[in-house]
Amino acid sequence: MAIISRIDDTFQLTITMTAQSTIPFKITPSTAFQQLAEREAILENPGFGKHFTDHMVAIDWTLDDGWHGAHVMPYGPLLLDPAASVLHYAQEIFEGLKAYRHPDGSIWTFRPQANAERMQRSAKRLALPELPTDIFVESIRQIVSIDADWVPTGGETSLYLRPFMIANESFLGVRSAQKAAYYVIASPAGAYFAKGVAPVSIWVSTEYTRAASGGTGAAKCGGNYAASLLPQQEAYANGCPQVLFLDPLEGKYLEELGGMNVFLVMKDGTLVTPELTGSILEGVTRASIIQLARDRGHKVEERRVTLDEWKNGMVSGEVAEAFACGTAAVVTPIAALKGRNFMVGDETAPAGKLTMSLRQELTDIQHGRAPDPHGWMVRLV
Ligand SMILES: *Cc1c(COP(=O)(O)O)cnc(C)c1O
Repeated sequence: MAIISRIDDTFQLTITMTAQSTIPFKITPSTAFQQLAEREAILENPGFGKHFTDHMVAIDWTLDDGWHGAHVMPYGPLLLDPAASVLHYAQEIFEGLKAYRHPDGSIWTFRPQANAERMQRSAKRLALPELPTDIFVESIRQIVSIDADWVPTGGETSLYLRPFMIANESFLGVRSAQKAAYYVIASPAGAYFAKGVAPVSIWVSTEYTRAASGGTGAAKCGGNYAASLLPQQEAYANGCPQVLFLDPLEGKYLEELGGMNVFLVMKDGTLVTPELTGSILEGVTRASIIQLARDRGHKVEERRVTLDEWKNGMVSGEVAEAFACGTAAVVTPIAALKGRNFMVGDETAPAGKLTMSLRQELTDIQHGRAPDPHGWMVRLV
């Protein structure tokens, strides 16, 4: 809040603030703030990923100078050379995390170091520069501080934060770029399930895989998503909002959904989730659910799981519940599985009990309604 009043006092000026970070952030406040009434109308019904706050963060990188020029600036279009390598060779990575307003008005985020470290692993795989963890966390703090009024209040609402990095060297030769930029944009998010958490049917893609063995599946990169959109269309055409991908070698083992990890709950209360094979994205939500379930005394197995085990288990009752998880929707119960020539489960079945209680426990921690025994929450404002 202190930052905001300083900006108001010196509206046309730019301020340099060092905070805890190793590089200074220059701040250029927007002179075209969205009006209060406009913001309130958006926050009333934000949806997901449709509206953006007044500012963004940009940090440049060059091979010679490293990370420099950190800048909080008005939200707006990027100026990119048409030869920028990201446009041709898809050298791009991203992250997704949220800022939550707690009942006392303070604003927090969830395990940002984990996102920072994952972005470093993604960067390594995509031959992009690694952004130091403290600069990542500071960039989140900067955008949430200046756009604090955009963090919605109440229920399951949050401000979704989207850090991303692109290679922006103007060069068509095929090699890793020597110039890159990191940005953070922010988008208010309503409750993912507007009418209460609804179990979904999942389309099992047998024709396409999400990621190859030795490929980029463990990296959070745009290219993985581009490849998942056609099977996603196929899912929609079959009445399913999400796709489940199987392993790329045998087409037998569960991997994950287009943007969420997957868990089965066995009838004895054991949770089973596919082990990280290198083609699965290591979700922060996945890791947190594993921890919370173990805290409650549940056995959690990270292992290979076949599609047949799931299908047969749904029929026999051995598999009692299933859910997908990720930052955007937190935990989504899965009611049925559909494929080219099969359908198991009941689309109208209610969400599983353990699924819903783990979901509640996690969202209560994130929204400040329950204690945070693992120190996952980081205060931003
Ligand atoms: C981001 C993502 C997830 C979920 O990760 P969280 O850190 O839990 O949000 C799962 N799978 C894929 C492919 C993803 O991109």
